[in-house]
Amino acid sequence: MITTANLLSMIGNTPLLEVTHLDTGLCKLFLKLECNNPGGSIKDRVGLFMITQAEKEGKLKPGFTIIEATAGNTGIGLALVASQRGYPLILVIPDKMSQEKINHLRALGAKIVMTRSDVEKGHPEYYQDLAEKIARETPNSFYANQFNNPANPLAHEMTTAPEIWEQMGHKVDAVVCGVGSGGTLTGMSRFFSKVSPNTELVLADPQGSILADYVKKGTLGTAGSWFVEGIGEDFIPSITDLSRTKNAYSINDQESFSTCRELLAKEGVLAGSSTGTLLAAALRYCRESKTAKRVVTLVCDTGNKYLSKMYNNYWLMDHGLLPGNKYHDLRDLVTRTQETNSITSIHPDDTLLVAHSRMRIYEYSQLPVIEDNNVIGVIDEFDLLSAIHSGKGFEEKVRTVMAHNLVKIQSDKKASDIFNILEKGMVVLLFHKDAFFGMITRTDLLNYLRKNPKEKI
Ligand code: PMP
Repeated sequence: MITTANLLSMIGNTPLLEVTHLDTGLCKLFLKLECNNPGGSIKDRVGLFMITQAEKEGKLKPGFTIIEATAGNTGIGLALVASQRGYPLILVIPDKMSQEKINHLRALGAKIVMTRSDVEKGHPEYYQDLAEKIARETPNSFYANQFNNPANPLAHEMTTAPEIWEQMGHKVDAVVCGVGSGGTLTGMSRFFSKVSPNTELVLADPQGSILADYVKKGTLGTAGSWFVEGIGEDFIPSITDLSRTKNAYSINDQESFSTCRELLAKEGVLAGSSTGTLLAAALRYCRESKTAKRVVTLVCDTGNKYLSKMYNNYWLMDHGLLPGNKYHDLRDLVTRTQETNSITSIHPDDTLLVAHSRMRIYEYSQLPVIEDNNVIGVIDEFDLLSAIHSGKGFEEKVRTVMAHNLVKIQSDKKASDIFNILEKGMVVLLFHKDAFFGMITRTDLLNYLRKNPKEKI
């Protein structure tokens, strides 16, 4: 194909890349680059199959609204196809999903209903229960229902798996997959059971999901929580067929994220968070293998969707996912330090316009005012508002508006001392041995208390 007038024909037929810079033991490991689909993920295939199949079966007709519960990528796949074929789309999304995916969906014209991530199946605010309810109450609607729709695994049985089989020259010893809806794993399982029954299926599961234990021990435990997006479950979806999956690895968030970043650094592939889980499991499988095997795993989506999260060191630090400095004093509350030059600050001779722009870009409500490496004040949104209200313009200098109610505190004090200062509406400046170390805000204290639940204030 040299040119095409049909974007949807570009879904699938993704490349297979051999891993060459990571330790794969005796094995060869290949990555199916699903990030190359037009919507940036493996779920474009499923969006196309579910819509096309529903049209064929007469369940979806012109003028109908499509409704779905999604972690984001199925939504993007559906939105891509729906926008090309003229269907309105309503998506119910749990609130832990990245802002990039949500912005992408809104820009594609989908209507988004946000719901809670912290409730399980059976709760009215659980994303799948809520989507089902909206579908029941919306006339002329089609509930795509990826968790129960056979067109989902069919997409992988008919396209993803046969592509891998051809690209690998009919020699595949193992496929390492995650399970979100289970479409990928089930499709792979069905295809390989026909053409190569000895091909092993290996589950890569985020720590906290119930699936790995189910595969290894046959037990159904209680789910925890995890940051990796798109895979891991608190139930077994009806379309998920784990009968041929005999091996499973449970991977924690920290390992998933660091593996993803290693993949980018060493192989140049910018992959999404679930790829970190899959690749970490695939690498363990390869390194444990006593024989030379040909193993395939997937880059399920592009890392572009996670630049503000997994690829942002401060996000990782704020969530306790990057081993930060352990000082065992108040310095552990601060992620952006003067030492590393990572404090977003403002100069007293900058204008209010610059201060406002900086607050907006970095999404801070306050900035320390720094001159000659010394904090001499602080400026927050209300200082800006008061200045404008009193007749000053945005060209006014920060120096004339900034607040001086700063409290300096030494690093050997306690978290409860911080609370007492914040409670009075003042800003805390942390000093270590006379040198300014960083600011402590309400958010910093909250993040710290979340990571250290035993700490009392
Ligand atoms: N990775 C990502 C990023 C996903 O969005 C999904 C789908 N939720 C998967 C993996 C898992 O795919 P499946 O639904 O086929 O199990």
